[in-house]
Amino acid sequence: MILKSPFPAANRFVTIQATMNKTNPSKKQVVVIGGGVIGVCTAYFLSKKGAAVTLIEQSSIACAASGKAGGFLALDWCDGGALSSLARTSFNLHRSLAQELNGKEAYGYRPLNTLSLSVTESENPSRGRKQTLPDWIDGPVKSQRTIGTTETTAQVHPQLFTRKLVETAVAEYGVKVVIGKVKSVETGGGKVTAVVDGGGVIDGDAVVLALGPWSSKFTLLSSVINVHGVKAHSLVLEPRDKDAISAHALFLSYQQAHGGQPMDPEIYPRPTGEVYVCGMSSQEDIPDDPEQIEPNPDSIRVLKRVAGTVSSHLGEQSQVKAEQACFLPCTDDNVPVIGEIPGMKGCYVATGHSCWGILNGPATGAAMAELVMDGCSAIVDLTRFSPARFVKRRR
Ligand SMILES: Cc1cc2nc3c(=O)[nH]c(=O)nc-3n(C[C@H](O)[C@H](O)[C@H](O)COP(=O)(O)OP(=O)(O)OC[C@H]3O[C@@H](n4cnc5c(N)ncnc54)[C@H](O)[C@@H]3O)c2cc1C
Repeated sequence: MILKSPFPAANRFVTIQATMNKTNPSKKQVVVIGGGVIGVCTAYFLSKKGAAVTLIEQSSIACAASGKAGGFLALDWCDGGALSSLARTSFNLHRSLAQELNGKEAYGYRPLNTLSLSVTESENPSRGRKQTLPDWIDGPVKSQRTIGTTETTAQVHPQLFTRKLVETAVAEYGVKVVIGKVKSVETGGGKVTAVVDGGGVIDGDAVVLALGPWSSKFTLLSSVINVHGVKAHSLVLEPRDKDAISAHALFLSYQQAHGGQPMDPEIYPRPTGEVYVCGMSSQEDIPDDPEQIEPNPDSIRVLKRVAGTVSSHLGEQSQVKAEQACFLPCTDDNVPVIGEIPGMKGCYVATGHSCWGILNGPATGAAMAELVMDGCSAIVDLTRFSPARFVKRRR
């Protein structure tokens, strides 16, 4: 079998020449498909629990939403809903992972304060401004409210986080990473087989499908659940005076000068000195290849205007490091789908995390590891996330 480094740049589609992880046949052999945050967290916790894991990714680790997300984390913003205990567990797991993996150095984990602001493009910058606002927020901002503190909100750099986790899983727990596109999965006789583009097959005792929005293009999944992708845009800016930017995440209600519905973009300064800006979502078909996802120029133009309106530090004098787009994986009921697929023993799915996949990655991975290895999850009750809810509806 040809195994690639977790961060391949070229030669992306390799042929798998043999079956899987033969190093320790007594271990449970698990194939995880999808190298986004959900697949990587699953591979990490499975391997930590003693499984022999092969992680298969079609492009590169964190090439899609998991590399281009904001990385904002909240303890209690999902309270009162289906995601409450998943989110709380995951927020705390992020904190302990950061300690374990030397987070600040490794992937920009930090607690931060979070503000909600109203911004109207056409207004005078000083109108409605309160003294308590950090100096760098010098645009026409009003109605500020603190909606998160360093106890309840935090952030990671999602690409660095996902890559650090895979690197650790490879180095410390023996996870094998294979670059190749899985065409199909077959189950039967207590075994699973992943068939990879180019002819290779990888066998295991169980398989976890963590394909994000590409779940809709994978027949085995699309025949059971409906996961669709929502395209969203982001910018990464590098302000000239990095030290002027404080650790405040901003959630905006943004009114454009020409009127229309207010938009809700978000701005996250990062400990690296970069500032991440996101918003502008739309329904579009997802291309087969993650590398083919292109941002819409109009959406990028609007995000640049948002950034420059909120802060002169984020206007023309800042350097644009990335203009990008990616797809959120969404389910029909806005609840992730995490569990064994009914009627397919040993075949599990974990997707549909919508706008909270970075937050909920660790608890999803830890719960999935328990489910696959022990038969049930103790860390989070997965009943609400079961794929059976969709299967039942179709009957
Ligand atoms: C603009 C934006 C901002 C966001 N901000 C935040 C945030 O601040 N906080 C937060 O918690 N969440 C945020 N999210 C949501 C988060 O990014 C997603 O929920 C999460 O990344 C989904 O992870 P995933 O692993 O399910 O999917 P993906 O990251 O899409 O990964 C799926 C992977 O599977 C691979 N794959 C698919 N099919 C195959 C196949 N057949 N064979 C092999 N590999 C395959 C793909 O190449 C891809 O790498 C944001 C999302 C967007 C779009």
